[in-house]
Amino acid sequence: MARGQLAALLGVRSREITFTGSGTESIDLAIRGTLLAWAARKETPAGEPTPLLVTTKVEHTAVRELAAEAESLGLARVHYCPIDAQGIVDVGELKSLLAQERRGGRALASIQWANNETGAIQPVRAMHTICTEQSTLLHCDGVQWIGKEPTFSDGPYVDGSPRSRLRVGTLPCDMLTCSPHKFHGPKGVGVLWCNPAIRLRPLLIGTQELGRRGGTENVPGIMGAGIAAEEADQWLQSWDDTTRCTLSGLRDEFEREVLARWPGAHVNGPTEPGKRLWNTTNIAFPTYEAEALLLRLSEWGLCASAGAACSSGSLDPSPVLLAMGVPEASAHGSLRFSLSKHTTHDEVQRALELIVRLATSATSMPR
Ligand code: PLP
Repeated sequence: MARGQLAALLGVRSREITFTGSGTESIDLAIRGTLLAWAARKETPAGEPTPLLVTTKVEHTAVRELAAEAESLGLARVHYCPIDAQGIVDVGELKSLLAQERRGGRALASIQWANNETGAIQPVRAMHTICTEQSTLLHCDGVQWIGKEPTFSDGPYVDGSPRSRLRVGTLPCDMLTCSPHKFHGPKGVGVLWCNPAIRLRPLLIGTQELGRRGGTENVPGIMGAGIAAEEADQWLQSWDDTTRCTLSGLRDEFEREVLARWPGAHVNGPTEPGKRLWNTTNIAFPTYEAEALLLRLSEWGLCASAGAACSSGSLDPSPVLLAMGVPEASAHGSLRFSLSKHTTHDEVQRALELIVRLATSATSMPR
C-alpha cells in the first residue's frame, strides 16, 4: 500500500520503489550501489577506465562526502561540474565534462533537484538529456523537491503542456532519492526509485526490498511515509501557477521586509521566479556570526538554520555558499528560513517582528 502511494507521488511503478532508513541511505545505495555493481562485474573490458562520477560542490554532504569516499576507495574518478554564482549547473559545462572525461568507460552523475540551503532548482530535464546522450546514468537527489512541487521540471513536458504531470516512466533521471520527513512524513524512512534496468549492489544483504536492501523494514515509518505521500500527491494534483505564487509570495514578503529592515542583508542564491523552491530563503547578515543570531532567534521561538543545517555545531561557513562564491564574511552570517505549505501570514508577521527585534539588539552581538 505505502509502496503504491510513494509510486503514485513519483509517477513510477510500485516494484521500482525501495524503502531505506533515510535520504542519506538512499543516496548511498544509488551511488555506491551502482559503483560497487560496476566494480563487481566478472569481465571488465581490457583498458576500461575507472568509472567517472560527476557531481557538484553544492550537493548535500550525503553526496559530497560519499563522492570523496568513492574516490578514496578507488571506485570512481570524481569530477565536479561547474555551477554559477546562483549555484545552478551550467549544462554546457556538464556536456563538455562528460564528453572529455568519460573516456569510453562507465559514468554516473549525481546532481540534486533542488538545493537544501538556497532552494536553487537545477535544470534536471536538460541534465538528463545530456547524460543520456553521453551514456551516463543520472541520480537525482530529490530530497528537497519531492512532495513540494510536482515531478515535472523545466519542460518541455511529456504531452507538450507546461502543467502536465509526468506519465509513468518519464522521470527526468535514472535514479531518484526522496525523504518523506521533508513532506510531513515520519523520520527514519528514505525512498529510492531506480530504473529497473539498473543493477545495484545492496549495501545491506538480505531478502527484503527485492534484495536491494536487507533488514526488517520500519513498518510504522513506511506506513506514515505512504500517508504523507498520498496527502502530498493529492495536494499537488491541484498545483498550478497560482499555488506557487501564493506560497512563494509569503516567502518573498518575508524576504523583502527583512532586507528592508536590516541594512546590508542580502539573499544568497537565485531570486528569479521558477529558479528557487517556494519555501526557502537564505539571507546573509554580513559581519555577524550565524550561530549567535540563531541562538537569539531560537530563544525567542523562531527556528532557522545556519547554511549547513545538518552539521549543526560546526562554526565553519557553509561549503555550499563558499562554492557559489559567496564571500566568507557573508557566508559566516547566513541563515536559512524555511516555510511550509501550512505557514500562515500571521506567522510570517510574527517572524518579521523577531527579526526587527534582532536587528535592534544585534549591535551588541558577536561578529
Ligand atoms: N539531500 C538533501 C538535499 C537534503 O536536504 C537532505 C536532508 O536534509 C538529505 C539529502 C539527507 O536526507 P536524510 O536527512 O533523510 O538523511
